[in-house]
Amino acid sequence: MNVQSRLLLTWTAVATVLLAPSLFALNRVVKLRDIAYELGIRHRSAYVALGGMQTELARMERFQVNYVAFGSPVAAAEVRASLAGARDRLDQLASAGHAGLAANAEVYLDSIEDATSRLDSLIAAGMNEDATALLGGVRPLYTRASNAIDELAEELTTSTELEVDAAREMSDTVTRTLVGALVAALLLALAIAYRSTSALTSPLRRVAREMAKVAGGEFTPPDTLPYARADEIGALARSFRTMTLKLSEVDRLKAEFVSVASHELKSPLNVISGYAELLQRGTYGPVSEKQQSVLSTISAQAHALARRVSQLLDISRIEAGGLSVSRAPIQLHEFVDDVDRAYQAIAEQRGISFIVEVDPLLPSTFDGDADRLRQEVLGNLLSNAFKFTESGGAIRLAASRSAGNQLELAVSDTGPGISPDEMSRIFDKYYQVGRQARNAGAGLGLAIAREVVLAHGGTITAESRKAGGSTFRVRLPLADSLAPAENARVS
Ligand code: ADP
Repeated sequence: MNVQSRLLLTWTAVATVLLAPSLFALNRVVKLRDIAYELGIRHRSAYVALGGMQTELARMERFQVNYVAFGSPVAAAEVRASLAGARDRLDQLASAGHAGLAANAEVYLDSIEDATSRLDSLIAAGMNEDATALLGGVRPLYTRASNAIDELAEELTTSTELEVDAAREMSDTVTRTLVGALVAALLLALAIAYRSTSALTSPLRRVAREMAKVAGGEFTPPDTLPYARADEIGALARSFRTMTLKLSEVDRLKAEFVSVASHELKSPLNVISGYAELLQRGTYGPVSEKQQSVLSTISAQAHALARRVSQLLDISRIEAGGLSVSRAPIQLHEFVDDVDRAYQAIAEQRGISFIVEVDPLLPSTFDGDADRLRQEVLGNLLSNAFKFTESGGAIRLAASRSAGNQLELAVSDTGPGISPDEMSRIFDKYYQVGRQARNAGAGLGLAIAREVVLAHGGTITAESRKAGGSTFRVRLPLADSLAPAENARVS
């Protein structure tokens, strides 16, 4: 299934889960509306029926009195019509759902109808006085019927209130159920959305992690990516693998080329340096002052070029994973003295004060590759420090013991410092801050220094102060058993 279909399916599932309680709510609301509607209709219609009955009874009583007094057949017909009207109202009451109430009222109507028939017979027989006497007995019936209808109205109000209460309870239950169902649906929808999105994002995150490794120069395609997936993520992973393999091939070819080219350059450079030196010494005849100066420039440039070539060789070895360090016990004093001697002359020439300090608590020896630490680590750090420090400035090399039983070699200068943005990149291969003339390197010095330090199991960090000046700290693990140095020295 491709990503689009998967997303579509997820959102359909989420919508369905959320739709279910909504439909349930809709159904309940419709039901409640029906109940309210029915209550309204039945209530109103029952009240109308009871009111109508009261009217018909009053009318009937009035015409009955009239009929008994004057014997008018119109009044008799009106009595019958009111009786029929009252019975219609009874039917209306029954069909409004109040059959019980209608049956109660019917008892009174029956007795009134019965009395009416008897009155009719008495008047038809001319027995008006008997009829008047009977009417006197019938009239309380009307009062009782009217009272009974009032009671019925009250009963009706009570039963309606009960139904309204039941409806309210139903609405409360619906609200509670609905809130519960909505919360459950929401949780379910979130779970579905989470599962489905993580099925997409977790392989993407893995691809992104591996891409970051490639961006950092690691060109090995990982086995754990979802190459077998049939969707776009699988396609991305496969393209990424192909790209990584191609990059790794290009990288291998580049390292091979750099290695071969550097080897090829080294021998002619040595020959140039050698002959320049022989010429300077006068082996091939006398040399004028001007020629001496030209020869020393040739010699210096050949040395600079040889250093660059050896850096390229180092980096190609590092890239091929072949940087080796041969550890042996190093005499700390001798080591520091060598470095001091090598740079004191340049410091004097440049008018820079070069201070070397050794902590008395340090052991007299430590394990490491003396050549690499001297040339590729301290050599690079110090030549950078000299490159960036103006005449009148100071450079300090301090050897001390740092936390975790480590030898710390700190090189600080009073140069311009390094901006925080650049700080994270200065140890990258071929990276240089700006392109100033004095940055005449290849951006490899710090990268090589870092690799050598890492190969010793140590760390290298850089700090820079706002006011200017940088400090590079190299920390190398020390063996516990080594004895402290006999004396400290500062020069
Ligand atoms: P390069 O061999 O070209 O000097 P590096 O790897 O030694 O390159 O240094 C990388 C960058 O870090 C350089 O471009 C340089 O500008 C900066 N840098 C290194 N050391 C210092 C320092 N002590 N003060 C200021 N900038 C420095």
